[in-house]
Amino acid sequence: MGQDGSRSSGSGGGLPTTAVSTGGRGRALLCGWLQNTLINIKIMILCGFVTILVLLGTVSFGNFESSNDDAVNQNLIREINPILAEIPSGSDPTSLVEPPKVEIKPNLTNLDEPPEVEISPNVTKLDEPHEVEISSNVAYTLGPRITNWDSQRKVWLTQNPEFPSILNGKARILLLTGSPPGPCDKPIGDYYLLKSVKNKIDYCRLHGIEIVYNMAHLDEELSGYWTKLPMIRRLMLSHPEVEWIWWMDSDALFTDILFEIPLSRYEKHNLVIHGYPDLLFNQKSWVALNTGIFLLRNCQWSLDLLDAWAPMGPKGPIRDEAGKILTAYLKGRPAFEADDQSALIYLLLSQKDKWMEKVFVENQYYLHGFWEGLVDRYEEMIEKYHPGLGDERWPFVTHFVGCKPCGSYADYAVEKCFKSMERAFNFADDQVLKLYGFSHRGLLSPKVKRIRKETVSPLEFVDKFDIRRMHPETKP
Ligand code: UDP
Ligand code: MN
Repeated sequence: MGQDGSRSSGSGGGLPTTAVSTGGRGRALLCGWLQNTLINIKIMILCGFVTILVLLGTVSFGNFESSNDDAVNQNLIREINPILAEIPSGSDPTSLVEPPKVEIKPNLTNLDEPPEVEISPNVTKLDEPHEVEISSNVAYTLGPRITNWDSQRKVWLTQNPEFPSILNGKARILLLTGSPPGPCDKPIGDYYLLKSVKNKIDYCRLHGIEIVYNMAHLDEELSGYWTKLPMIRRLMLSHPEVEWIWWMDSDALFTDILFEIPLSRYEKHNLVIHGYPDLLFNQKSWVALNTGIFLLRNCQWSLDLLDAWAPMGPKGPIRDEAGKILTAYLKGRPAFEADDQSALIYLLLSQKDKWMEKVFVENQYYLHGFWEGLVDRYEEMIEKYHPGLGDERWPFVTHFVGCKPCGSYADYAVEKCFKSMERAFNFADDQVLKLYGFSHRGLLSPKVKRIRKETVSPLEFVDKFDIRRMHPETKP
């Protein structure tokens, strides 16, 4: 199968949160619409006040009753200021609590075996920068340590038969995606976030999968690409009825609307992730796995994995220093702060015996498909193949790694990224629109055309075109 992409690095830092990070604009949890509406209301109130001020000014001039009116004006100004303060300026800086400091005590003698990493936030000095073991007194945690989740969950499922974890013979899946709390750096970024979530809603609706969109940084230490960890944990604990949490990046699109995850393959596994064992174990490559899309079973093992995965995440010195360890250890990794993908690869390599038995490294289909090798081949795919294959013939997912559609710094040309995202979106959307008798005018056109005549007996098309009823041989 084709290549994997690399993650964003260096100056881009990979984080599309640069200008909009953690709640800097207050009201971070409100959706964009609500926020805009509030802003509009505030602007209206403001205009009203200004009008009153002007009128009062005119009246007071006429009446020469300035002292009394001055007091009124001062009151009005006092009321307006807080409103003004809440209107986004587009540049307000974010103040975040300082992360704990980290001490690094490395032991970089043998890079074949990854050192065990313990990160503790109590130490201020980086006196031995070439050593690799991070030690600390207080390891970062995602929350109180839960040790009996499997039995707690089992009891709950027995007591709540109206919320079964298996529905119509299928394990209940919750797809989780999300984006930063604030607006993207450019409006076009938000436009593509919208298209991306529309694509996911379509896929999930057609396959009976629930979907969650998260915009909150539940743990302010774990911002950016680390945000998924606390949210996955929270969803597992809040939805015991869900068997699998499926994380999917906002820059990834379903491009095979018919393909379904072959869940029966993973009965004995708890983590399903796209990757290549050779790249992982022999090459220790930092792109051996891709954490943009993966499935995690709701169980104790997964809670333990999240706990073991998170300690490199806290932003600031911990993340920066952990980044050095990862770059020293993983092949091909540029120098930048610790990212969730490298941290997972590092964990699985350094504690292989503990974790790998339950990890399914999938590459039979594109659970993650790197966009560059795929987007220019859509026409060829349409000519030669059909949806339902999921692999290089018709990729299940096209992931725009490194494009940073919501941020300012991308590893690739912005034009190329957005054009390619438009093609991927329309390629997928044509598969959805076909159900309704329409298609896009071309892979770069948001406009649609009719592909079937309207009929007075529409039900004949339901069996024919409804992808829920496609022929079994087109299914994986
Ligand atoms: N993300 C999020 N909240 C944030 C920042 C990022 O949920 O504040 C998610 C978003 O879905 C994004 C993903 O984290 O797609 C990972 O980042 P990105 O896709 O830019 O990384 P890449 O795939 O390029 O390595
Ligand atoms: Mn991504």
